[in-house]
Order: sequence, then C-alpha cells, then structure tokens
Amino acid sequence: MKRFGLIGRSLSHSFSKRYFTEKFKTEGHPDHRYELHELTAITAFPDLVRTTKGLVGLNVTIPYKQEIIPLLDELDPTAAAVGAVNTIDLRDGRSIGHNTDVEGFRTLIEPLLHGTRPRALVLGTGGASRAVGFVLRELGIKFRTVSRSRDRGDLTWDLMHPAIIKASTLIINATPIGMYPDVEDAPALPYDAIGSGHTLIDLIYNPEETRFLALGKARGANTCNGLPMLLAQAEASWRIWNADR
Ligand code: NAP
Repeated sequence: MKRFGLIGRSLSHSFSKRYFTEKFKTEGHPDHRYELHELTAITAFPDLVRTTKGLVGLNVTIPYKQEIIPLLDELDPTAAAVGAVNTIDLRDGRSIGHNTDVEGFRTLIEPLLHGTRPRALVLGTGGASRAVGFVLRELGIKFRTVSRSRDRGDLTWDLMHPAIIKASTLIINATPIGMYPDVEDAPALPYDAIGSGHTLIDLIYNPEETRFLALGKARGANTCNGLPMLLAQAEASWRIWNADR
C-alpha cells in the first residue's frame, strides 16, 4: 500500500482527496490511498509520519505551509527561496519539502502573457503571494504587493487609487477575499479604472468566477481563475512523489 495525503487544519472541502482518488482509479493504482489528516498543531507531524505505514507523500495546506519548514530534513531550493512548502516527499526515512505552487502559477500565467511583461499588483502577502512573486521575478515582471499592513507589503489598500490600477495591467488576487462562502466579497479596488488592457487573475477556484473576476470582465478585462494552477500543482506533486522511486 502506498499512502499519500494532505495535512492542514480544516480539510472538509479538500480538492486534493477527490483529485487523487479519481486519478488512482483512472490510472489503475488500486494500492494507492489519499487521506486527509487534520492536525490541530503542526507538532503532530513527526508522529503522523512515524505511525502511518507506507506514507510516501503529503500535500500541505493552510495554515502550515510555513510552520512545517523547521520540521523537515531537507528543502528543495525553490521551496527555500519561496519560504513555503506545499508538498513533502518522504523517502529513505527523510522528509523533503517542495513548493509546487510555483510550477502551478507558472503554468497558469505563461499562456496569458503572450511574451509581454506588464506591471503587476499582487494582492496579499501570504504563502501563495510568495509563490506568485517568485514566478513574476523569474519572468522579469515588475510587481508590488498590497497588504493590510505597511510592514508586510509594498502598498496598503488605502493607496489603491485609479492611477495605480491603470498603470498595473496585471492584477493577481492572492488573498482569500471572495472565496466560498463569502462570494459577495471582492478586493477593495477602484474597478472603474480597469479596462480591456487588463488581465485579472484570481488564485481562488471556488467559486469558478469570483466577484473580482466578474467586475473585471464587465469592464473588458481578460480573466483567469485558480483552476489551471490547482491542477498543475497537483500534477507537479505527483511527479515529485514518483521520481526515481
Ligand atoms: P494565506 O497564507 O492565508 O495568505 C493570504 C493573504 O491574504 C494574507 O497573508 C493577507 O495578507 C491577505 N488577506 C487575508 N485575509 C484578508 C482580508 N480579509 N482582507 C485583506 N487581505 C487579506 O493564504 P494563501 O495560502 O496565501 O492563499 C491565498 C489564496 O490563494 C486562498 O484563497 C487560496 O485558496 C488560494 N490558493 C490557490 C491555489 C491554487 O492552486 N489555485 C494555491 C494556493 C493558494 P496581509 O496580511 O499582508 O494583508
């Protein structure tokens, strides 16, 4: 039996369990299982690894993507640069942290750019925002982050004037604002400043079209939700778990 799974605090709406269970069925892996492990504290991680026979891979979600780092034996260079881990490879008694949100976001954004390097705004400064920033830097795209706190971001929400929005034709929502069940919420932006030259990306995939994307689309913006990133990061995790095993 090969076991995979997800660690996080509240996992009842997990996409990953459905995704991998279906994948094991369609790709013919009757001896594979993907299980949810709700941990009230990340200190339970070493015991989970020790007591779960056949565990070869884990995904990590909110709120443990950063807290897990000191408990791992090794970090892949990308995860170290981002400062967040969403995939753990368990092999030869060692735990290695990876960040496949980076590959997920790269897969999402590359087809939207058509070789351009627009100025960007990244809303939020959490783990997903860090993965987005890593990819934007790699692509040579200049960006500023928007935070509730002056200490964490380059800009705060009260500075979101129309001129900044007009000058930033790529806007990425890396906050949970607008995520189910709070589907009526949207990041506080002057949406009238958005036009057909804008691309709006929301990392949220539930709902499929957030209010942020709908408001942008109504003004002619090109929009994309977080589903391509979600699928690509899951496939990247799968490749890591299977590499040279
Ligand atoms: P996180 O670590 O909790 O960070 C979210 C950031 O958003 C926070 O650091 C915060 O930045 C800001 N924020 C949170 N609540 C806010 C509020 N009420 N008003 C304004 N700003 C707020 O979460 P995450 O892991 O980065 O995930 C962020 C979003 O991306 C979630 O919706 C998640 O589902 C999605 N995501 C999607 C994928 C995918 O594959 N599609 C992958 C990863 C994440 P400040 O404290 O600086 O304000």
